[in-house]
Amino acid sequence: MTESAPLTYRELAAIGVERLKGVGEKKLDALHEVGVHTVLDLLTTYPRRWVDRTNECRVGDLAAGQEALVLVTVRSVDKRVGRNRRTIVEAVVGDGSGRFHVVFFNQPWRERQLREGLQVALFGKPELYRGGLQMTNPVVDLIGDRTGRIVPIYPQSEKVALNTWEIAGWVEAALHRCTPRGIADPVPVDAQRRLGLTDRHTALRTIHMPEHIAEKEKARRRLAFDELLRVQTVLVMRKRTLERESKGIRHVVDGQLVPLLRTSLPYELTGAQQRAIAEIEADLAGPHPMHRLLQGDVGAGKTLVAVSAMLVAVQGGHQSALMAPTEVLAEQHAAGVRALLRDVEVPDPNTLLGARSLRVELLTNKITGADRRDVLAGMADGTVDIVIGTHALIQDAVDFHSLGVVVVDEQHRFGVEQRAALRAKGDSGAAVPDVLVMTATPIPRTAAMTVYGDLDVSVLDELPPGRTPIVTSWANGPMLEAEAWQQVRTHVAAGRQAYVVCPLIDESEKLEVASAQETFERLEHDELKGLRIGLLHGRLPSSEKEAVMGRFRRGELDVLVATTVIEVGVDVPNATVMVILDADRFGIAQLHQLRGRVGRGVHESHCWLVTQQMDGGNPRVEALVATTDGFELAEVDLELRGEGTLMNTAQKGRSDLKLASLRRDRELVAQAREVAFEVVDADPLLERHPVLLDELRLLFTADDEAFLFKN
Ligand code: ADP
Ligand code: MG
Repeated sequence: MTESAPLTYRELAAIGVERLKGVGEKKLDALHEVGVHTVLDLLTTYPRRWVDRTNECRVGDLAAGQEALVLVTVRSVDKRVGRNRRTIVEAVVGDGSGRFHVVFFNQPWRERQLREGLQVALFGKPELYRGGLQMTNPVVDLIGDRTGRIVPIYPQSEKVALNTWEIAGWVEAALHRCTPRGIADPVPVDAQRRLGLTDRHTALRTIHMPEHIAEKEKARRRLAFDELLRVQTVLVMRKRTLERESKGIRHVVDGQLVPLLRTSLPYELTGAQQRAIAEIEADLAGPHPMHRLLQGDVGAGKTLVAVSAMLVAVQGGHQSALMAPTEVLAEQHAAGVRALLRDVEVPDPNTLLGARSLRVELLTNKITGADRRDVLAGMADGTVDIVIGTHALIQDAVDFHSLGVVVVDEQHRFGVEQRAALRAKGDSGAAVPDVLVMTATPIPRTAAMTVYGDLDVSVLDELPPGRTPIVTSWANGPMLEAEAWQQVRTHVAAGRQAYVVCPLIDESEKLEVASAQETFERLEHDELKGLRIGLLHGRLPSSEKEAVMGRFRRGELDVLVATTVIEVGVDVPNATVMVILDADRFGIAQLHQLRGRVGRGVHESHCWLVTQQMDGGNPRVEALVATTDGFELAEVDLELRGEGTLMNTAQKGRSDLKLASLRRDRELVAQAREVAFEVVDADPLLERHPVLLDELRLLFTADDEAFLFKN
């Protein structure tokens, strides 16, 4: 870069904040404390609010009961200790038009903060008190003597004594020094124009120093876009690198087995299943290994789609593997897949009838000795067509003859590494197997683009017809809980069965088991006396677990009291009631999964969410009562918990989102992904986008970088 070229983020990151006027040793320490080391850090420390002086209220215009923002001067401050030894700080504030009282409870430090003569912006709701107006615990922003129509309010730190007007002053000085050269822009001009994005320099200037409130909104959109573009570019490059570097198998998609499966089904595929199968087959037929996510709600029929993909591999002479997160689930899948494939035979000229049954095997750590050796040998010589198992599938001693398709059931999210390990199993030759990841925890589309951004996505957003909806009720308190038990009795009397899910105890499985035991005994002697009740929890030996499950499945038990071990893999269509105790201890996704265990048959089902909480709202429980749509619930979940919880630490580079929100900026996520594809597909190594490339190298973690730039 020559001296006169626009300044890049890398150059700004090379200038220490101490180079700015007014940043002495003490302030430098304070800035370091809040993570601001360089001019780039400073410029990307964005205001958390903006006070619009043209829009503020005069004290004389304040009305009781109406929230308002006022700019006032502190006239006096007083501290005392009230009843219950609470500190009360009381201040009198005012402007030319009048004055009023402000009180703070339990915030003793306000006395030091609000010195006489200080200008502050207060946001709160004044109420009438003793004949005058008073605000209680308002939001306080110190604004010093800054002028301008719109004042940015930066995150301030009481602890290290940094206030907003100091930060504003340094930001302004830094921006001023960028003016002659300008600031380099990573977004291609045509994309900027198409999406109506401001240029970066303007955006940086106006997010800090907007002339109008609308300007800062435009600036925010542009800078949020930059954050999302960086994430998406990394993901898209990762995706394309994988595709480029690995030779896949061109599978035979017009073979005989898939049609055989289709005709053997007692039902029609849903439109969503047909679409997903078509998307998968297009990938399978192609030269690059598939890397696709199959999202679908509980009961949407993912198994069939997965089996269809596995059969494509088998009909071309390859093998398939399905990896499940638990043994119970692996066994359940094995039973389900075998049932689906009962009538499907593989052509085999070496047999008398010219065909043989498909060989489906189970491999978990419970399969041992001669059985295990037999399965392993069959996998190695190719006589096992489909193997279903747990992570036992990715152990060293496991070899495949020719692994063509891998399905990963990520009910509880395997790591990226485990997916890679299984993929590597097929990597002995040159070709890499195709991978389909299934998840029953729907995540909103734009969040999926980020969390699973290196995967393509197929969605089953349609349930097979004929499902009876599950009626969900909130039992908040003993009266309604009693009604729940009554309903269990009614359903059992009508020949149905019920689940009771015991409280989740995060800290200790031992406590959880104890509480399940207690619940079991209580129900047996009290609420559900006389019914045939079984108990299932994680500490039971597997043989006993199976025995209990078997009795429930055969209808020899009316009620199954269980911990969350039933969350996955239990399929008893005759079970029509579920009572979840202490439902507020579970997350939305988990409640939704649990509830999916009922409503699997033709009878109407009911789910009771029992809480101790008697009054007040409970947004999670209310969401479950309101809808059975997993995608809708996922949106609510994201809304309530924030996106942080979606990302794990392995995705550290992605925590670069300061302004962008996967919740609010859905459209922007999609746009950034589109631009990322355009850029990367036209120029895989970003040679023509040096500014963007340089920012990725600068801002992403070493891991991401190693992966991306290993060539
Ligand atoms: P998921 O794994 O998505 O939770 P499953 O694959 O276990 O769902 O399917 C749930 C139930 O729906 C199974 O009993 C399956 O046989 C049935 N099913 C799947 N597809 C259809 C369809 N198109 N029409 C009717 N029933 C279907
Ligand atoms: Mg299933």
